Amino acid sequence: MNNLEIKIAKKAGFCFGVQRAIELTEKAIKEDKEVYCWGDLVHNPGVMKGLQKKGLRIINDLEKLPERKVFIVRSHGMTLEDLEIVNKKKSKVINTTCPFVIKAQTLASKFKEAGKQILLLGDKNHIEVRGINSRAENQALIVNGIDDLFLIKNKLKGKIAVICQTTQKNSKLEEVVEKLKEWKNDFEVNNTICLDTTNKQKEVLELGEIDILIVLGGLHSSNTTKLAEIGKNKKVKTYHVEKAFDIFKSWFEGSERVFITAGASTPPSEIKKAKRVIENFCF
Ligand code: SF4
Repeated sequence: MNNLEIKIAKKAGFCFGVQRAIELTEKAIKEDKEVYCWGDLVHNPGVMKGLQKKGLRIINDLEKLPERKVFIVRSHGMTLEDLEIVNKKKSKVINTTCPFVIKAQTLASKFKEAGKQILLLGDKNHIEVRGINSRAENQALIVNGIDDLFLIKNKLKGKIAVICQTTQKNSKLEEVVEKLKEWKNDFEVNNTICLDTTNKQKEVLELGEIDILIVLGGLHSSNTTKLAEIGKNKKVKTYHVEKAFDIFKSWFEGSERVFITAGASTPPSEIKKAKRVIENFCF
């Protein structure tokens, strides 16, 4: 296989929120012996392995958090109810919630106080969405797209404030807004999709002629999955892989142009490795 042109997205990989969460966690590990995180700090198995090697302890059940230890709140935040459990354990809390997520949380409590009906665009099972909803006393109407919107149409009353999970697709927000306009709802839109997500999506949306799109990042990562969805919607042959070594030579037969992008939890080293793996297929 020869003459494969490989381009890497300018915005591929770590966002500022994830970078900051990792740095604060590493600092905490250096300063304290027992640092705990509830689930994965970032949706990337390689990064998690590295952090655990350095000493980060992962718990899956918050009730099992030992007392008086250091606890990391992840970049996508958590619910007020769960935070209460952490506080009851007299933990020293290191809050790495990304400022973009804090903005969505703050708007949720502001709109709740103002008596507005909050329409939250996001995945109701995602920790970030649950965290935002808890700031609205768990009263937000959560939709993950236009299909869900039809299901709650009758509940859309009074003044509506739309907010979004930070890693949502901008196109989904546009569809929801169009529908609310059509239904003549009284609404305001607060696009809380973060800048990093928007920029990454834009690069894939504006892709010129390419044969293959490689999306690197955790299979459960919301922002990474959206990048792969955008590629597939554009009818580009898209592969979403967690690591560089999951890429297969056979995918590139007859291809000339490859574009690599990566989710917000993918380290630069993995992106370089993916490029090297594909380059090696050419010889
Ligand atoms: S994806 Fe966006 S909201 Fe999430 S941590 Fe990164 S910058 Fe913050």
